[in-house]
Amino acid sequence: MGMTTPSNADKRDGRGDATEQPEQAKLDQLVTELSTHADLVDGAMAKDFNLMKKAFAVLEELVHKDSSPEPNVPDTTTTTRIFTTNDIPDTPSKQQAACDQIEFWEGIKIGGNRAIVRTEELKNLLFTTTENPKIKFYHVADGPQLDAQQYQKQADQVANLIDGGATACEQLQILMLPDSKFAPARSGGSVEKEPRIFLCQDNPNLRYVFNHEYVHQYLKWKYGDSTVTAIVEGAATRFARLVDPSDQFNNMERYSGYADVDKLKLANRTVGRSNTEMLENAGKPDATEAEKYDTSYRFGYELTGFILGTYGPEEGKAIFLDIYQYTCRQNIIHNKTGETLVKNGQRLGHSRDIMEQAVRTVLENHQAGIKSAQQMFQAQTGQAKEFITDPTHFFAGLDQYMKDRLPIIAAS
Ligand SMILES: [Zn+2]
Repeated sequence: MGMTTPSNADKRDGRGDATEQPEQAKLDQLVTELSTHADLVDGAMAKDFNLMKKAFAVLEELVHKDSSPEPNVPDTTTTTRIFTTNDIPDTPSKQQAACDQIEFWEGIKIGGNRAIVRTEELKNLLFTTTENPKIKFYHVADGPQLDAQQYQKQADQVANLIDGGATACEQLQILMLPDSKFAPARSGGSVEKEPRIFLCQDNPNLRYVFNHEYVHQYLKWKYGDSTVTAIVEGAATRFARLVDPSDQFNNMERYSGYADVDKLKLANRTVGRSNTEMLENAGKPDATEAEKYDTSYRFGYELTGFILGTYGPEEGKAIFLDIYQYTCRQNIIHNKTGETLVKNGQRLGHSRDIMEQAVRTVLENHQAGIKSAQQMFQAQTGQAKEFITDPTHFFAGLDQYMKDRLPIIAAS
């Protein structure tokens, strides 16, 4: 885009004659190369059918041009947009690789919604790849350029912030959707320990969406897959913001919806130990899955902020990561009631019970760390402060923290 149309004078200034031949040559070359590839991709003809359709569209366009009575200047905007001869030698394999990524995401559901939709339409687009040893993008050939190095830098920052670790050795596979219509329910996604992410390239907050998804990716890869949504989304939003304070995408304060906390404050009721308990306490026991998922971001963001604020950045992060890891256990039985909360990685019980048990277990294991964090705090500030060491005070503290923050949220 952005190319100017040459005037008729330009067309005649000696380029008119020369252009007819290169166009014919290009057409011939395309035919030759395509027939070569038709042989090469024989075993995967179905997959490459879409690519072929695209190639024929180019051929048609070129043929149409030849029949035009006016001398043509090659329309480079159109021809390079769909196909350039330089792309041809490795394009079928890149297209195939992109289709594999699309097919992977096709079968994934996140938060009850399909991760990506309109996949046939998506596969019809011409894809290419951009990569460095740690990141590989699958993106449309006519989209904006992608800087794998820049994203690698961001990934390193995320890993360093979370636990001072390094990013995974395995190359991260990123499917770039050219339009958010292919993922109407989400702006990005990551799954399990697979080093895969998808992003919507047209999202104005792309770099922040990446940070968010990479927090998920890193935690899943290194610590496991948590069954408590508020822990998962709380980590992604809070850590992404800590990596880049200019990030407003992951700033949960900017979202409305703290009304539940406000309501509970006025009614003098507790917020609870999970977002779903919060909804119930606020008189919404029949909240939809989407509502529950939505509140998990805000509840988790506040929960993570509370932990980091209560125990300090070092001990707070260690405690949070241990709670996260506890909620990744494949099997969890309620210590008091004997109820099965998680079985074979599937959550069967309430997330509030998993949360409480995780907090209780982790605080017990962190008694020494909490004590030294408290001593350090007192030495540094000269203030005496009793650090929370039991779950009852923990959830009472969280309740107070969320209610105390309401005026700040309303003002921002
Ligand atoms: Zn998320």
